[in-house]
Amino acid sequence: MSTVIVNKIYELKKHIKDWKNNNYTIGLVPTMGALHKGHASLIKEAREACDKVVVSVFVNPIQFGPNEDFDKYPRQIDNDKALCEELGVDIIFAPSAEEMYGKNNRLNNTDLTFVCPPYNLVDCLCGKSRQGHFDGVATVVLKLFNITKADFAFFGQKDAQQLYIIKTMVRDLNLDIKIVPCSIVRENDGLALSSRNTYLSKEERSWALSMSKALNQIKTLYDGGVTDTNVLLDSAISILNKNLDIEYIEFRDFDTFEKIDNAKTNTLVAIAAKSGKTRLIDNIIL
Ligand code: AMP
Repeated sequence: MSTVIVNKIYELKKHIKDWKNNNYTIGLVPTMGALHKGHASLIKEAREACDKVVVSVFVNPIQFGPNEDFDKYPRQIDNDKALCEELGVDIIFAPSAEEMYGKNNRLNNTDLTFVCPPYNLVDCLCGKSRQGHFDGVATVVLKLFNITKADFAFFGQKDAQQLYIIKTMVRDLNLDIKIVPCSIVRENDGLALSSRNTYLSKEERSWALSMSKALNQIKTLYDGGVTDTNVLLDSAISILNKNLDIEYIEFRDFDTFEKIDNAKTNTLVAIAAKSGKTRLIDNIIL
């Protein structure tokens, strides 16, 4: 059975109604496209858990800042469709910005109802340098949940802050959907897969590799009994390539999202850095 690309909300809703009438469970995998093995792992989990799978491919304009890479973000729907076919996806939902946000776009944000995640979750880590980013993410994700009426939605732990914010939104807004976290998929040498890796030159890629190396070093030390986050941080900094422009390395309790001084079980160690002009993120859970 082949994957159908649907661009219109009303058309997707017809399929969803049909599926619901048949009591099929629906799994949603929200993406911005340029699909890689990381996305594929989410899709595989969805395929195993659900009767029907929708992958959304939408480069969401309201989650990009004015100086970010919205225009140059890779768009390759033909490749995405081929991968989705291979993985048995039922529908790719690929709406236009106008379809999602209305005729005159409402993209200047003056005319759009937004979801505002709690301040303490957005005023930190990636939210510090990406003002409004998580409002844009939460808003589009809630729209996708409402449009697809999915029973399960699959999110990568690669975007740990996003995952935490979405789980919080589901709790706070009483949404009837189960969020399924999925592990980070990496290249053989450890680099976390990202659609933005295609921006990296060979040299920048080698600098970026030190991010996962530094995270692994922290894990090794922690497993060996070191819990002081200052000590762990120093060891990471000694490994990180000096050409990287480090934005943050932080230790947070992944149950509460609070910053911590002593690492323990379920501590999120998150890092963001620019390699050349490309901003990358990675993390590990201790
Ligand atoms: P994106 O297309 O970057 O918005 O990502 C769509 C989904 O794929 C998000 O839930 C991401 O966390 C997840 N994802 C992206 N890269 C990876 C990866 N390397 N491993 C696992 N999940 C990923």
